[in-house]
Amino acid sequence: MSGSLDRTQLDDLRQSCVECGLCLPNCATYLATGNEAQSPRGRLLLLGEVLDGRTDASEPSVRETFDQCLGCLACTATCPSGVSADLLAYVRRLAADADPNRRPPVRLLDRRAVLRTLRVVGSLVRGAAVRLLGAGWRGRLERTPGAGRRLARLLGTLPVDPGSDDALIAQFETLDGGGPRPAVSSHHRAPAAGLRVAVFKGCADASLMPHTSRRLQDLLRRLGCELTVPEGQDCCGALASHLESRGRTSRLRRRNRRAFTPHLGHCDHVVVAAAGCGQELKSQPGDLSDMVIDAVSLLERLAPVDLGPVPLRVAVHDPCHARHGLGVVEAPRRLLARIPGVVVLEPAEAEVCCGSAGVYGVQHPEMSAVMGRRKAEALAATGCDAVVTTNPGCLGQIADGLALVAPHIPILPLTDLVWYAARASGPRKEMS
Ligand code: SF4
Ligand code: SF4
Repeated sequence: MSGSLDRTQLDDLRQSCVECGLCLPNCATYLATGNEAQSPRGRLLLLGEVLDGRTDASEPSVRETFDQCLGCLACTATCPSGVSADLLAYVRRLAADADPNRRPPVRLLDRRAVLRTLRVVGSLVRGAAVRLLGAGWRGRLERTPGAGRRLARLLGTLPVDPGSDDALIAQFETLDGGGPRPAVSSHHRAPAAGLRVAVFKGCADASLMPHTSRRLQDLLRRLGCELTVPEGQDCCGALASHLESRGRTSRLRRRNRRAFTPHLGHCDHVVVAAAGCGQELKSQPGDLSDMVIDAVSLLERLAPVDLGPVPLRVAVHDPCHARHGLGVVEAPRRLLARIPGVVVLEPAEAEVCCGSAGVYGVQHPEMSAVMGRRKAEALAATGCDAVVTTNPGCLGQIADGLALVAPHIPILPLTDLVWYAARASGPRKEMS
């Protein structure tokens, strides 16, 4: 990892950049600012100056340039010279280490109870805003100065669980017309027999998206998986890692290894719904990492049931952790292609981060808002009926952008669409 890079390795990695600029169109900070210094190439040139002692990393402008990197990996995925994620992590760590005032609020942010409270309170306040200001509440508050705008942004980016099964079904029926469905194919294939799967809950997924999380488990059981949810598991550590809280990150990793190790010999996979958690667990060496599989890839491998028709045009947003970190790009598209009636639409700038990136929206609210809006515009430009994605952070960030630029377009968890299609293919009782 970046912490173990010595000076020679750093120089080698830094000099691997040939300054071709191919990464620039994929870098969200460069696109948001138009500033070359805020590009991968600019950051690496600046890093060279810091390492050579010509520039001080504690200078506010240098720190800001490094700190505003999202760590999204879009540049490393594009770079023909193999510029590595470790180098960008080093750059962000330099910024964190050079800021003596940085007190990461990680103890609050990664607690499930706090996230659950945030979800409940956020829903109540958002409900009040809708009642008082109507469906266009987000746009109205955007035009208010100061605290009103900040509160609107905070509420707008809170990941919204689509709610109970009935609420989700009603939402899809509104979108797809909800008319009588064609007869379902009689070629029901047998579900995968007895695949044993341990479930990693993840604090954001389980606390902010409890219904979606439960529906995914319903779906996996229906596909023949035998599920176990190990006790004692905790936050994956991605938030602590984003905040450069190394001690906290290590403790969470140890706790999860302790919780999962007794189960690894008795299961075939450890399934993770949120792409960010998946990448964090995958990035650690060891048996747990080897068994981690993201939920969409597992569903795509299993999905032997006939999925019912859902006549919808859906734009797919790939979280950076899935697309650039785990290399999960084809699986969601193959899975969606099995749902009769679904038309998959690809947005422009699909490789570019939406600006969620862990706690980036809290640390850099203005920059993050620009990125979220740009992403929402690209998705809306596909002409889709709905957007689907697989990470709670992206879901909230893009929901907020869509509320401003295309409030008629909802964003929904991809696994909820599959759940709805699976329900449409068979008796309702099987899914509840
Ligand atoms: S694509 Fe790679 S080599 Fe080219 S400018 Fe970007 S980081 Fe440097
Ligand atoms: S990690 Fe993302 S934000 Fe940072 S330089 Fe690379 S593309 Fe830009």
